[in-house]
Amino acid sequence: MQLDVFTLFPHWFEWFESQRHVRNCIAAGSELRFLDYRATTPLSAGQVDDSPYGGGAGMVMRVDVVDAALQAAYGDSRAGRRIVLMTPSGRMFDEDLALELAAEPELTLLCGRYEGVDERVREHLCTDAISIGRYVLAGGELAAMVVADAVLRKLPGALGHADSAREESFSADLEGNPEYPHYTRPPVYRGWDVPDVLLSGDHERVREWRHERSRERGAQQEPGA
Ligand code: SAM
Repeated sequence: MQLDVFTLFPHWFEWFESQRHVRNCIAAGSELRFLDYRATTPLSAGQVDDSPYGGGAGMVMRVDVVDAALQAAYGDSRAGRRIVLMTPSGRMFDEDLALELAAEPELTLLCGRYEGVDERVREHLCTDAISIGRYVLAGGELAAMVVADAVLRKLPGALGHADSAREESFSADLEGNPEYPHYTRPPVYRGWDVPDVLLSGDHERVREWRHERSRERGAQQEPGA
């Protein structure tokens, strides 16, 4: 995958890029770039924002600044590329969308700041708008990291064990339910026992127990549960 993130704070992503699964993706051929809107702004003194038409608090990121950043990176050859605006009002991010994006050869995430981004960016420059939840962050960087993290760990070679991604929360193997509970040594700690079935050595019973717990957790997450 070729993944670009546009941001006012590219250095924030140094930590992200150092994570093992991200390094694994890069080693397996993915390319990641963290691009600074200020590096290509057509305005003087690194300006990227302006006051909102109609008045109101705060500043808005300008459409010409975002367009210039995309032009510098892609010229006119953006056809087929998913260009995603991170915004609280976008499509809610979930496992299905992570899988969908992981199938894309090219992906761009646009981080907003301030009061947000001129609406013409969403209308004319983006293919998608994504929210990571019904709350407001100070900027799109953490939201982009959440999306990039969830998407990249789906790529072949990202995880140490390919099996880790096969039977995990929301996977088809677990019928879309959250994962079952895990336990490790010691078998008793402060009187808290590990369920007997996990110590039984009976793989079929363990499998059944895990899937049952997973279904229970799914039911607990149902709206109104
Ligand atoms: N004024 C906007 C509103 O009320 O919806 C909030 C703007 S927020 C302070 C600045 C930027 O953070 C947004 O442009 C977006 O890129 C990002 N952001 C904040 N919350 C987000 C969320 N839940 N999901 C995705 N991006 C988010």
